[in-house]
Amino acid sequence: MKTTRFAPSPTGYIHVGNLRTALFNYLIARKSGGEFILRLDDTDPIRSTEEYADAIKEDLAWLGLHWDRVEKQSDRIDRYNFSAEKLRNSGRLYECFETPVELDLKRKKQLNMGKPPVYDRSALLLSTAEIQELRLNRESHWRFKLDLSRINWDDGILGDLSIDAASVSDPVLIRGDGQFLYTLASVCDDVDFGISNVVRGSDHVTNTATQIQIIEALGGDVPHFAHHSLLTGSKGEPLSKRLGTLSLRDLRASGFEPMAILSYMSRLGSSEPIELFDNLEDLAENFNISNFGAQPTKFDLNDIIPLTKKYISTLDISEVSDDLIKTGIPSDIAPKFWIMVRDNINTRTEIKHWWSICSEGVAPLIDEEDIEFIDIAKSLLPVGTFDESTWKNWTSEIKKVTGRKGKSLFMPLRKALTGIEHGPDMSKMLPLLQKINL
Ligand code: GLU
Repeated sequence: MKTTRFAPSPTGYIHVGNLRTALFNYLIARKSGGEFILRLDDTDPIRSTEEYADAIKEDLAWLGLHWDRVEKQSDRIDRYNFSAEKLRNSGRLYECFETPVELDLKRKKQLNMGKPPVYDRSALLLSTAEIQELRLNRESHWRFKLDLSRINWDDGILGDLSIDAASVSDPVLIRGDGQFLYTLASVCDDVDFGISNVVRGSDHVTNTATQIQIIEALGGDVPHFAHHSLLTGSKGEPLSKRLGTLSLRDLRASGFEPMAILSYMSRLGSSEPIELFDNLEDLAENFNISNFGAQPTKFDLNDIIPLTKKYISTLDISEVSDDLIKTGIPSDIAPKFWIMVRDNINTRTEIKHWWSICSEGVAPLIDEEDIEFIDIAKSLLPVGTFDESTWKNWTSEIKKVTGRKGKSLFMPLRKALTGIEHGPDMSKMLPLLQKINL
């Protein structure tokens, strides 16, 4: 059984970029019958808000990615203090006094000399007296002292990775104002919650190297890490501002279905073909992190459209009854209406369009050369209630009288009755037309 977590900062909405992270962690936990934790990384009190935390929960719930437990980092400051103390006592956390400007200057100097901009550890050379003195005048921050060896792990996606700790600055774990930084908080949580698997974006690879050492210094078990590639636009360009920040709320408002989005995301960038799954259990069963590659992954919103359409066409009326009621479709008509319409819409929002055609009719679309033909058709329209045989009987009559057949028979009728060239099976639609404006 695996324990995973999705750890967004409540400083914005879930967008297509971090949805992958949420989904992969969810699927790993579910596939193994384990636990999926929602962790809110809210240690930054200025940027984190309750509204965003609620919005994240709402979006995950809409997707059906239900968490077993929710944890907030702001509730766990005691634990971070405890871990920091443990690291201090073992000589792995040290106090530094450089200001941001001084650090920046050091970095620039190193770069000018062609050296990597790694923190020079000059704080470690301070004497106790110097430290006392500095404390009187300056805020101090605290860095984790890396063990300068190679850090190796078997990444679930990237394979064997090895990072030289000497090429990385000792990470700051506590800021000058006392705020615990993500690096410590995340490690402390992962250890405390028994996280066994962590999937996150490849922008976290260096963090992982340092976090592995911190976990070990705290005596915790190192989770199994996997870093997924970052998304690009459909032509391989960096994910545009618009797409990069495309939130789930935007997708929802555009009528994309959760199962279509999740099916797409669960295969995008993997060696397996994208296919539509009906439910999350099947999705989890068929998910395998080792099928994903390191290459940047092309994201194309247009690919979710056919999946949404296909998903909708499989829905039973019970799964759309709210939408039908909201649209004002009477319950006696609803079953036939749904069967007629479900193969002909891209999103649920289009239900309204077809209902308006049925209930209010349309201004008929009649080409010049069809005016007479439509007049004849009108005169042959049966009286009384229509059923599914009406269309066939009516068009046979029209065919007899006018001699038209095939497309030249059916298309003008469709256009006159619905105002457009494509749409549902007319034999199913005709009995549902409550107003015919021929
Ligand atoms: N809050 C971090 C982020 O959103 C979490 C990263 C992690 O998974 O450890 O980047």
